[in-house]
Amino acid sequence: MPPTTPEQALAELQAGNRRFVTGVPRHPNQDAGHRAAVADGQHPFAVIVGCSDSRLAAEIIFDRGLGDLFVVRTAGHTAGPEVLGSVEYAVTVLGTPLVVVLGHDSCGAVQAAREAVRTGTSPAGHLGAVVDAVAPSLLRAGRDGVEDLDAIIDIHIAQTVEALVARSAVLAERVDAGACTIVGMAYRLSAGEARIVAQIPATAPVTPVPAPAAPADPALAG
Ligand SMILES: [Zn+2]
Repeated sequence: MPPTTPEQALAELQAGNRRFVTGVPRHPNQDAGHRAAVADGQHPFAVIVGCSDSRLAAEIIFDRGLGDLFVVRTAGHTAGPEVLGSVEYAVTVLGTPLVVVLGHDSCGAVQAAREAVRTGTSPAGHLGAVVDAVAPSLLRAGRDGVEDLDAIIDIHIAQTVEALVARSAVLAERVDAGACTIVGMAYRLSAGEARIVAQIPATAPVTPVPAPAAPADPALAG
């Protein structure tokens, strides 16, 4: 049975990430039988609002398969209208109990926004919209005196978590009702580990993040 509560869903994601980190993925729900089983309907247990970075493929890093994750990705995991509408669809129509904002170290979108703020310029074309969406997090980091890029990225993840409920009354209502939890995770590209850096509600019971794993045995890493 797929998870039905925010706590179960988070535990399932963390277990999958642990398998990925340690090099023993199970690749669940990726076979032809499951493909046929989910063709008539989907019940994803988590929404992932992630950065588009090619190294951040949700089903791989959380070791899941077809029908498990409802994934919305933009460069810099922004929270514009189409993203909000997609998240609202999953949470209200599909009944998904967990929303994860997934950012990562060395994020190019955050670096581009940082450069734009520093120089007072904006990239040409629609890339400017990405920079504009990330810029408030840069300003917040500046006010807090934070200069380390990874710490700025953590702030941007938290900012996106907060933006989801601030901009979506539908999501805020589901969170208030206890039907949905929103968690921000920071992913490390080299280690493969996703750690929790923000959550709403703040009191939501979450499974502690396991200690960093020992280096994976190359023989098991397939
Ligand atoms: Zn990124």
